[in-house]
Amino acid sequence: MNKVLNKDDLSGLFELVDSSGALLETSANGTILYVNEKFCKMMGYSENEFLGKNPRMMKSGIHSEEFFKNLWETILSGQVWHDEICNKKKDGSLIWLDTYIGPIFDENRKVIRFVLVRFDVTHQHEIKQLKSDQEAQLASSSKMAALGEMAAGIAHEINSPLSVILGKATNLLKQLKSPTIDFEKFNIDLEKIQTTTLRIARVIEGLRRFSRSGDNDSLLPVSVSGIIEDAMALCSEKFRNHSIDLKINLSKDFSVQVNGRFTQLAQVLLNLLNNAYDAIETLPEKWVEISVNCEGDFAVIRVTDSGYGIPPEVEKKLMQSFFTTKIAGKGTGLGLSISKGIIANHHGKFYYNNQSKRTQFVIELPLIKDQLAKE
Ligand code: ADP
Repeated sequence: MNKVLNKDDLSGLFELVDSSGALLETSANGTILYVNEKFCKMMGYSENEFLGKNPRMMKSGIHSEEFFKNLWETILSGQVWHDEICNKKKDGSLIWLDTYIGPIFDENRKVIRFVLVRFDVTHQHEIKQLKSDQEAQLASSSKMAALGEMAAGIAHEINSPLSVILGKATNLLKQLKSPTIDFEKFNIDLEKIQTTTLRIARVIEGLRRFSRSGDNDSLLPVSVSGIIEDAMALCSEKFRNHSIDLKINLSKDFSVQVNGRFTQLAQVLLNLLNNAYDAIETLPEKWVEISVNCEGDFAVIRVTDSGYGIPPEVEKKLMQSFFTTKIAGKGTGLGLSISKGIIANHHGKFYYNNQSKRTQFVIELPLIKDQLAKE
């Protein structure tokens, strides 16, 4: 007969765990065999209500199938599973539990029991959730502020092609009324209407993509030049209106992709372009250059403006939330700190390059591996 390692065999250890946390023990097929007082108190059930049941009775329904698949794979492979899990108490309220589940084996390495130890972390979880909600809200307001700064330019970006379309359509109508139609000219005007409409569509598409949340999107292959073009489409008019030369310098036909969230990466670029605009607006020499290079395993995007760098006392605080040198109502002081967070979530680096003669910010994003192999 198999020797069962029950709580008496491991009495010292069990006593320790029993007195420090909420403890539950099941048979190999998940039937609850033991539950301590702390566990009952935590979940609101009596010992009798637990015994003979399955821990599924506490399921909250908020975890994915994948989550439980991983749990089972871990414990069935003989390892201890550890994570925060949300359960439902008897009164229906939810509770977050820092949970350890480990298997107990007999001499033949056959699982005979599972032991589950847990600690109530609902309060810490709520604080974490609140913090991440607040961060998401700040990121969203900073994005909308960036968009607001571009609003006049965007309106112009749509308005001027609309006047072109109106002019060309008026010409076409006039030609239709004339006794002889110059088909070549007619065709040129129609083509101009077509390309101008596409230009407006591009701006609207950029706006639509930029305005959506996108925070919960998974990382998908995105084209680096596509992100730059979208960000530029939203602000090129504003730069043109203020005689700022906006240049793009791609190392080659830059079709490489990175794993990313399009909206968030466009947000980082737009913020850098807004900052560059604010910094050089009144300088005699006004230009901004975006360059992209493949360097090792990274796509490196540099945004350089014609300013002569940032003083060390400002540089020290650049990435701090709410740090701004702009007048009230103009800056939120969130752009760079949020950008740093976004790029870190993309497993990349975001920094101010104090070695550059002109003001330069750098974004490094890991290239997709397959592409590296192909190059
Ligand atoms: P905000 O733009 O709202 O001030 P940011 O976090 O984007 O917030 O920027 C913080 C500060 O960094 C700016 O107020 C400015 O002092 C400085 N800064 C950012 N980009 C530049 C730049 N291109 N040239 C000079 N200073 C800059």
